[in-house]
Amino acid sequence: MIITFIELMLLTVVLFIVAYPLFAARTVANAGAVITESGYTDLLYRKESLYIAIKDLDFDYKTGKIDDDDYKAMKAGLESDALELLGRIDNYEKQPSPEISSGSSAASRKKRNTIFCHECGASIQKSHKFCSECGTRI
Ligand SMILES: [Zn+2]
Repeated sequence: MIITFIELMLLTVVLFIVAYPLFAARTVANAGAVITESGYTDLLYRKESLYIAIKDLDFDYKTGKIDDDDYKAMKAGLESDALELLGRIDNYEKQPSPEISSGSSAASRKKRNTIFCHECGASIQKSHKFCSECGTRI
């Protein structure tokens, strides 16, 4: 009876360990469905942490903390994660970002404040009374 109980506990633990990455992966996929500004920052943050993890792994390997097979398996996993992340960051950067559109509205605002000299055609700030190029009164 006691042995059965221990086996049951072990089975539960094993099931949890096996199932956990599946749930975790699903959560990540859902988070990636809608990429917001904070989602993008999150992607960049995760990219940084992945690079750090790869560096740590390299260090552990060089110092002999992990063996060849573990190193190769773990590095392959980290690198495929990194590739996937980079792809998503790439996709995000291809989208028209709110920053670019606000930048162009700033440019058009500047344009509205600019007039052209009727004498020489130079562009002058609306607030100016004389042309900065030829001195003609506006
Ligand atoms: Zn002028």
